[in-house]
Amino acid sequence: MLHEKTLNEALATISLRSIDEQESYPAGQIRYLSDSGLLLDVAHDLDALRSTVTRELFDQRVRHAPGPKIDPVTDSGVWRYRELILPAPVNSIVSRPEGNTPLYEHPCMSEWVGVNSLYLKHEGENPTGSFKDRGMTVGVTQAVLMGAQAVACASTGNTSASMAAYAARAGIPAFVFIPAGKIAAGKLAQALAYGAHTLQVNGDFDDAMRLVQQVCEQLGIYLLNSLNPFRLEGQKSIVFEILQGFDWNPPDWIVLPGGNLGNTAAFGKALHEAHTLGLIDHLPRLATIQAEGASPFYQSYLTQFAEHKSMKANTVATAISIGNPVSYERAIRALKWTNGVSISVTDEEIMNAKALIDSTGIGCEPASAASVAGARKLVDNGTISPDETVVGILTGNLLKDPTATVDYHTGKWPNAKLANQPVRVEPTLAAVQTEIERRLSKAH
Ligand SMILES: *Cc1c(COP(=O)(O)O)cnc(C)c1O
Repeated sequence: MLHEKTLNEALATISLRSIDEQESYPAGQIRYLSDSGLLLDVAHDLDALRSTVTRELFDQRVRHAPGPKIDPVTDSGVWRYRELILPAPVNSIVSRPEGNTPLYEHPCMSEWVGVNSLYLKHEGENPTGSFKDRGMTVGVTQAVLMGAQAVACASTGNTSASMAAYAARAGIPAFVFIPAGKIAAGKLAQALAYGAHTLQVNGDFDDAMRLVQQVCEQLGIYLLNSLNPFRLEGQKSIVFEILQGFDWNPPDWIVLPGGNLGNTAAFGKALHEAHTLGLIDHLPRLATIQAEGASPFYQSYLTQFAEHKSMKANTVATAISIGNPVSYERAIRALKWTNGVSISVTDEEIMNAKALIDSTGIGCEPASAASVAGARKLVDNGTISPDETVVGILTGNLLKDPTATVDYHTGKWPNAKLANQPVRVEPTLAAVQTEIERRLSKAH
């Protein structure tokens, strides 16, 4: 652990603040809720940052050829924005490095969604294959700064994969709580491979979440779910990178999947801060897309948040199969700040959108495809107009959930419009030739 005085000096410009801005605590204190039980934000002193945080500061840090030693400030798409994320001493940062993800464009995708300009920011190209790395580099760095003896999380899969990797890099034991039988194979494989102590809970994600909170409170283990406000600070960098990638001329829309709503919350905070600091002169609108079988936020949105809904979640998009989202209040605030919207899409819409994204060579896991399916629906119902610029977030990598993909292509979905069935052939040239000729003639 850093000397306590050094830690307090390093973190002097930030504090933990309740979402209603009424309660405030030092940033070096371990806590996840305010005394009155409200969610916390990491609060930056934006007035003090105004003179030092500029577009030029961030632009000069973009380095294209990584050197032999990782320098998080120039190599990581998170720590490039460190003043707006966590002012940790640079030599204490645990980085892979993450971020610097591409913005893909493909005519098939924009045509299918129905807009002229659609870009897909591929967060599945982070070190462990999901955007969770952006939050985890910050969460684990904070854990190291505070001398945590172990870290823990409940997870639908990607959080545990990411936490396991970063904890291993930092040399801290990791405990992951996953709903038994409900996480995708690629994600479970990662948690085990990176050496996390893995507890399969007989229950759903919401049960695992309740349990891990109790465990962390009782046993003094550092909690790295998205309840933890430091993780959300890291996830803000997705937005900063988009803004910088567009030369600080924001797109009209940013469309993303919503599960626990950590990203929705982080995106809103990032945009609000960037606007307050004058990095951008107007705000893009956020659209949070939920799976119909796990759509408590969308259901609440329909009541203009007069009612706070929750539900038993069930969707093929396991990463967003959440019935009682942790960052609910933060996400409402994000939609208010950005004049945002929410909508839900069916599993069938998700899987058909995914198959299209996959077939262009880009590829993603099911939850990510909700962005694209949702964008299309919002164009259809007139919320997004065809001449607006849309950035969709692909949150996770295609390889995370091989079962969902193989099921789609092998006849387990009734309306699999883009199924690419494998075929069995006899081991003879003649049989193969027949098959190839049949397929090539079909392609014309
Ligand atoms: C965690 C996750 C989500 C959900 O993000 P929230 O911030 O919890 O809304 C979506 N997609 C993937 C691939 C994820 O791993």
